[in-house]
This record gives sequence, structure tokens and C-alpha cells, in this order.
Amino acid sequence: MNLLPDWKFERVSDISADFLKKEGIGVLLVDLDNTLAPYYHGSPAQKTIAWARHLKASGIDVIVYSNNKTERPRGFAELLGTEYYVNHARKPHADKIPEALALTHRSIDECCVVGDQIFTDVLLSKNAGCRSILVEPIKLANPLHIVRFALELPWRHTK
Ligand SMILES: [Mg+2]
Repeated sequence: MNLLPDWKFERVSDISADFLKKEGIGVLLVDLDNTLAPYYHGSPAQKTIAWARHLKASGIDVIVYSNNKTERPRGFAELLGTEYYVNHARKPHADKIPEALALTHRSIDECCVVGDQIFTDVLLSKNAGCRSILVEPIKLANPLHIVRFALELPWRHTK
């Protein structure tokens, strides 16, 4: 299976509204841990908050889309200035994608997944039939993260 992301950026804040509009993207499903903030951090960086608020002001919807089963995604959504979040998303399964799209009345063609993991976030986009942006993990904080990152290298370094 092709697990290559459509695009790669270092940080979410590097993804501009102009770029997304040019590509016809109207809604981002954004992973939380190591994409919006390091694991266990209670809030995103100011730069990340400013980025999400700018996208919203530009007419692009941001949905925090996380496998986290707690209320953490909701708290992040509030801080980012978006009311949209999906927790316990069961990525890479795509069964909660319709629920996410219904929140913003967008179609799958306008949707792009953003995340730091190939086997979770990029695979989700393939299962859903939408586009994807891979970002660098903010911080590899434990051995599991490092092993997982190493397994992803063949897809990370292509293109
Ligand atoms: Mg992640």
C-alpha cells in the first residue's frame, strides 16, 4: 500500500492558508499528540494557537481529531479557537470521518488529514480517501516513539 503523504511540513504552523486554498482544502483533521503539542502537554504553543485562529479567520475549518479517549481534545479545540473535535477517533480506521465532516458540512474532497505518524495519520487518510500532510513529531519522548519513528523512515524520506 502506498503510505506516502501528499505533502510534508516540519510544523503545523508552516502550513499556510494560501497553500490550503490553492489545493482546494477546506477542512483539516489535525492530530493532537506530537502534532499540536508534545505528549502530556496541557496546551499548544502560542504559535500553534495563532496558526489555527488564522486558518479559521481565512475560512478553513480545523478539527482536532485524536485517538485520545479523554476530554483533552476538547480542551485543545477550545484553545485553538475551534469548536470542533473528535476524540477516540480510532485512527487509522476511518469510521469517524463522516461524523467529523458533518460537523463542518464539508466533503471528503475538501478534507486533509494532518499528523506526525505514517501508520496512524497517513494511513487514516488512505482509508478515508482524502489527502494528507505529514509533520515532524514535536518530541520523541520515549523509546516506543523512537522505534515507531524508525519504522516510518522509508515513507518519511521518500520524495
Ligand atoms: Mg501524533
